Amino acid sequence: MRMKEDLMLNGQLKPGYNVQISSESQFVIHYSIHQTTNDIHTLKPHIASYEYLYETLPDYLTADAGYGSEENYDLLEQKGIQAYVKYNPFDKEEQTYKSKKKKKAKNDFHRDNLYYNAEKDCYICPMGQQINNIYHTKKTTKSGYKQTYSVYQTQNCHGCPLRAVCHRSKYNNRKIERNHNLEGHKQIMRERLTSNDGLKRRKKRTADVELVFGQIKPKLQTI
Ligand code: SF4
Repeated sequence: MRMKEDLMLNGQLKPGYNVQISSESQFVIHYSIHQTTNDIHTLKPHIASYEYLYETLPDYLTADAGYGSEENYDLLEQKGIQAYVKYNPFDKEEQTYKSKKKKKAKNDFHRDNLYYNAEKDCYICPMGQQINNIYHTKKTTKSGYKQTYSVYQTQNCHGCPLRAVCHRSKYNNRKIERNHNLEGHKQIMRERLTSNDGLKRRKKRTADVELVFGQIKPKLQTI
């Protein structure tokens, strides 16, 4: 398997595999092995083999940010599995919020804080100008998943007194790119993960699957 890059960017090919497990109360209820170092692409085959073996699916799934992608969120939604899966940078957002810096919340120019008018499909900038949808573009992830991004642009930022703090684009007008499907999933995750139920499930995950790995790893090293 192609190993993760070290600090000197010396990725190496070595005999190895990436093992994924599902656990419940520290009992391993399913495992799968993969030829990729990136966990994000292992969730789909892991769920598929779980379904194949048990002919059913779990009601809930809790996982860390290494599994949070649009493809995985869509998959879990289609399969009717209630996801409690972090995204990057969920932890950073939470830390910032807790430390009361709330930098992002204070920044009215950040694209996440601009008012979005869903009916007209446009954003409103701090000067009250409409940022209109000018086109949609498709992107394909490494796993072949197709994503749709909407691109928005102001009509004229020329002479705006807020230009220096608003955006650093070399072009005059401000452009924003949004993946509404992914942003929708992230919003749902944010609400679920910070709910009482979500907090309990996050604590349980740490004391559940991480302990199983903690017990397996030293044993593997002595084999
Ligand atoms: S620079 Fe453009 S987008 Fe930013 S506040 Fe001014 S008019 Fe609005």
